Amino acid sequence: MKIKDLPASVAASKADWLPGTTWLGFTPTESDLGSRNKCQSTIQRQFGSGYVIEYITETFQKPNPGFDNDAQYIADLEAHRERAGRLIAVHKLRTTSRDLETIIGPEEFRQLQDMWAQDGKRFRWSVAFPIVQSFRIIDDRKAKEILGPKAYARLYAHSSATLRPLVDEERELIADLEIEPVESKNAWIGIEDEFALAESSQINPDTERAISRDLAALEGMDDERLARVKRRAAWIADRFIRERQRAGNLTCDECAFDPNELASELGVKPRGFLDVHHKHPLDEGVRYTTTADFALLCPTCHRVEHVRIRKSKVSHGA
Ligand SMILES: [Zn+2]
Ligand SMILES: [Zn+2]
Repeated sequence: MKIKDLPASVAASKADWLPGTTWLGFTPTESDLGSRNKCQSTIQRQFGSGYVIEYITETFQKPNPGFDNDAQYIADLEAHRERAGRLIAVHKLRTTSRDLETIIGPEEFRQLQDMWAQDGKRFRWSVAFPIVQSFRIIDDRKAKEILGPKAYARLYAHSSATLRPLVDEERELIADLEIEPVESKNAWIGIEDEFALAESSQINPDTERAISRDLAALEGMDDERLARVKRRAAWIADRFIRERQRAGNLTCDECAFDPNELASELGVKPRGFLDVHHKHPLDEGVRYTTTADFALLCPTCHRVEHVRIRKSKVSHGA
């Protein structure tokens, strides 16, 4: 797939010298809660509901004294050399109330600060966002070559403690880059934070029933977790339907059936002629699913789709 096939656009870029694999971190100006909250809300506003493209800088930072021969430092240096100057990944971040120490654990946090804290201020990257969805960019060219000198200089010539928002012209330049999904170990943070949100939200009971049917085959979790996974999926499905309604886009995703005229003729709501369908039910509870995992289908297409799913299971011997 390509970057332009992602369900949302790339909102901003992060320049890093260490590749982020499970989280992206930012350093607030001070260690107090106010500075941390300010930093967090700035970054959150910058990525919004979009993706973040990660760029690896040409230079690598020097660790604190005593770490020049550290095994982790040498490994990081090696990893950097292979990626320097390249656009390496596209990530979906999620805001969480957990700070970096909670996300990575106190021991790893201490090591990180020992090695990289600046001027003895032990809050380097303390505003952290877990990566809940990630794609590797399959392109060995340097960012300068992909973006051209002008966009490259605008985005990366100056250092920045926050993200660098992209303009449409820059989004065009990266639209055709090939990407492939990679496993994101922190998907659970996004999933579990949303359990609570889903719990306290109003969800249309029809949507909840429809999603529960689509998720009937989910196995391997206890009843309590299964209930929470289903509830969260229904919460996303509900949001998916509302987004489609707001966009005035209530048609079948498969055959383009448009119930609007018929509905107004009969004096009913068009929504009743379309079903919400979960495209990847077995990913629930495993991967960080979003509104892009759902479809609106007319009842016939929905039925066909489920026959198709059943048949493919049979042919795979499952
Ligand atoms: Zn249809
Ligand atoms: Zn379905």
